[in-house]
Amino acid sequence: MKKEIPYKIYLEENELPKQWLNLRAFMKNKPAPLLDPVTMQPITLDALSNVFCTELAKQELDDTTPYIDVPQEIRDFYKMYRPAPLIRAYCLEKTLGTPAKIYYKFEGNNTSGSHKLNSAIAQAYYAKEQGLKGVTTETGAGQWGTALSMACSYFGLDCKVFMVKCSYEQKPFRREVMRTYGANVTPSPSTTTAVGRKILEEFPGTSGSLGCAISEAVETAANLDGYRYALGSVLNQVLLHQSVIGLESKTALDKYGVTPDIIIGCAGGGSNLGGLIAPFMAEQLQGKAHYQFIAVEPASCPTLTRGKYAYDYCDTGKVCPLSKMYTLGSGFIPAASHSGGLRYHGMTSTLSQLYDDGLMEARAVEQTKVFEAAEYFARVEGILPAPESSHAIRVAIDEAMKCKETGEEKTILFGLTGTGYFDMVAYEKFHDGKMNDYVPTDEELAKGLAGLPNVE
Ligand SMILES: *Cc1c(COP(=O)(O)O)cnc(C)c1O
Repeated sequence: MKKEIPYKIYLEENELPKQWLNLRAFMKNKPAPLLDPVTMQPITLDALSNVFCTELAKQELDDTTPYIDVPQEIRDFYKMYRPAPLIRAYCLEKTLGTPAKIYYKFEGNNTSGSHKLNSAIAQAYYAKEQGLKGVTTETGAGQWGTALSMACSYFGLDCKVFMVKCSYEQKPFRREVMRTYGANVTPSPSTTTAVGRKILEEFPGTSGSLGCAISEAVETAANLDGYRYALGSVLNQVLLHQSVIGLESKTALDKYGVTPDIIIGCAGGGSNLGGLIAPFMAEQLQGKAHYQFIAVEPASCPTLTRGKYAYDYCDTGKVCPLSKMYTLGSGFIPAASHSGGLRYHGMTSTLSQLYDDGLMEARAVEQTKVFEAAEYFARVEGILPAPESSHAIRVAIDEAMKCKETGEEKTILFGLTGTGYFDMVAYEKFHDGKMNDYVPTDEELAKGLAGLPNVE
């Protein structure tokens, strides 16, 4: 007899993952190597260790080890807020009147409010192990900066955050959460770095961008003894740490014999989606199962759906290694949108390769459609979703409604990456009918793509 599926599927402590899953180890077509911005050759461990902690640099370059142990200290920290609940969206299914079965993995259950803490704690741990004094980073919407501040305070590390200036001004409460955890927060571009000063000279009055804040954080780490740089998305190491999302989800579903047909996630730099799909995609790459994977991005920053697959810089200042990825060009500045976490110009190399190989689909959705889905979801499921996460909700609802038309009882799993408490200005614009759906023209995209470096 089939077990009835509870509203929430819990995992016992001994069912939590003890190893992360390195998806690249399962790929026949490996993502292209990172290039050193100075030599334009594949970057060496030595060069990368000047930017990141040595252990993280090793993880960054490792595309052969399928499983990597999660150190006990990190597992202990994970226990404070994990397992993240896996919820059967019974209320949503009923209200939609769909025969589809919908599940979501909710990662907003910690103070930082998103999945980013899963990698922040790992990056802080390895910095501590190496005997470093602290780390530097950038933050756009503020979720990553908050997560890293929490992780650093747990291990007694200093944390210097460059926060994109418009967020710094628009989201003072985010800034104060970071300071509560002891972080030092600087609006970017700033006069504290050469890159920042140069950008300010060229574009006085600029409200900043993620690419620029990254350059400032990297420069600061390079000039300080005992500091390294930390990044909250895009990197291989971040996807590795985020595999905890997919591993927990799969263990929970397996307990009830549930197999998803469709797996959906929002995609900014690609870390939550890469983590959610990791064990499922690994099965598929071994020919053991078949799933439909859907990446959802904003129509205002359509990296996968309208970008180019090419080597590009990860930052505006061109100080970081180059990555082969779907990109809109490192000079592309997306229109101001309310999904700060999805405004990055590139996509992690692993998902880029899987997408290029036809193993994953991508959809671009407009902002007001996303907020319609967000509000609908809040009213029926109770959780106030982050705008970023609501991209996945939008497509999950769309797929469930297709099932209603066809009568198919598909099982849908989507990632609900965080809560929207700090995004109420966005919700206010939506409620007041003042939200717009800016979609860049082909000419605008062509400008960003024209700036791609000439590397094969
Ligand atoms: C940062 C963020 C994202 C996007 O980042 P990915 O690396 O693509 O996962 C999505 N949702 C929330 C809540 C975020 O904070």
